[in-house]
Amino acid sequence: MRYVSTRGQAPKLGFSDAVATGLAPDAGLYVPEKLPDLSASWPQWAGLSYADLCFEFMRIFASDIPSDVLRDIVTKSYTKFDHPETAPLIQLDPRTYVLELFHGPTLAFKDFALQLLGNLYEHQCAGRKQTINVLGATSGDTGAAAIHGLIGKPGTAIFILYPDGRVSPLQERQMTCTGADNVHALAINGSFDDAQLALKELFADQAFRTTHRLSAVNSINLARVLAQCVYYLYAWLRLPVADRAKVEFVVPTGNFGNVLAGWWLQKMGVPIAGFKLATNQNDILYRLFTTGEYRVSAVEPSLAPSMDIQVASNFERFLYYNLGEDSERLRAVMAVFKQTGAYRFENFDADTLSASRCPDAEIPGIIRRVHQQFGYVVDPHTACAFKELSPERVSVVLATASPAKFPDTIQDAIGIEPTHPSLERLKELPIVKHCVAASPQAIADFVVKHTV
Ligand SMILES: *Cc1c(COP(=O)(O)O)cnc(C)c1O
Repeated sequence: MRYVSTRGQAPKLGFSDAVATGLAPDAGLYVPEKLPDLSASWPQWAGLSYADLCFEFMRIFASDIPSDVLRDIVTKSYTKFDHPETAPLIQLDPRTYVLELFHGPTLAFKDFALQLLGNLYEHQCAGRKQTINVLGATSGDTGAAAIHGLIGKPGTAIFILYPDGRVSPLQERQMTCTGADNVHALAINGSFDDAQLALKELFADQAFRTTHRLSAVNSINLARVLAQCVYYLYAWLRLPVADRAKVEFVVPTGNFGNVLAGWWLQKMGVPIAGFKLATNQNDILYRLFTTGEYRVSAVEPSLAPSMDIQVASNFERFLYYNLGEDSERLRAVMAVFKQTGAYRFENFDADTLSASRCPDAEIPGIIRRVHQQFGYVVDPHTACAFKELSPERVSVVLATASPAKFPDTIQDAIGIEPTHPSLERLKELPIVKHCVAASPQAIADFVVKHTV
């Protein structure tokens, strides 16, 4: 399998190179040259363990990695999850399920992709006898998950930028209390989008990227999207057969990365009825899927901070397919968007994709309602997904974080303070963070001093 850039002006790459490169040199995102058709494969995969399913799926895409090596990488990636099913599917009532994606080392769904990505990087460093410096911007969970994917791995360093004061105290501890020499947490004076923009500029400097062997670990990395396809398939295969074609996945959404993974799977021939994008009050995607207009506005910090973004970076991949995989048209659209901050969107698949919006004021009430109705505690991101479930479809709500990561919100809502042993341990450890201005130059200076 080879990968092309959405913008069509970068060389085609194999899987490992596309993963190492992150953002394509033409500023596009890598996508499979052709999405495979899985309709003959998935029926044989029911009953596989999570890691085995992941291996069967990933070997189609990572065809440049020898099979036995890939199997080791995949198996290793899911050993740090603390639930035997890795991604347990919990039935709340006959039409409502929760897919718990928070049993990994940082208690949020991003571990699914970033444990795998960390092991892919390690494999690459060893194979090429090279070091790699991984950079990413985070609104909370990505950074923690990326760090825990690479912690202590030889030949790697990781630099994570996060908006100072705008991630939860526990998220900050997960990034800053690692004690690992190869981990650098940079507290940026600005918003997540400021951090991401600075990073984008840094990566646009081809020479700088190459000299310092930089790789991006934001949500646009190809391996992340592919790794995330697996849990949709895993959940779908565990549903009663009669429910499968009626299922709508309800996805707490920020960058569109998570929902894109599910949507790809549907395009690969897994008959999923639909996806609902659940946004918080930062609702660019909600506005898009209800009015057709994609327009950037300012970020408002919310109770579901990992969805506090306004530019949904993975959206470009969706747009690419929506425009008939036509890179020239995509470039034209992106140029208009860059110039005006808005784009009028036609002709998206409203039957497959719908959206809901959950302002902060409603989050505690939803946590309370779900607790009363089902005896189940959801974190503030997952709460956004419970805002309104389809009356006709079977809903599988993706629970993207453990409630234990957001104890204050849960305490306010239902008077219970959730905890988790891994978070309790963190409270004993010293915080190590570096305060840096949100300018590409300041960040570049820091990185150059600490690369491996
Ligand atoms: C990152 C994150 C999201 C949003 O995921 P996207 O891939 O950006 O859509 C939702 N919930 C939690 C808990 C997250 O960490």
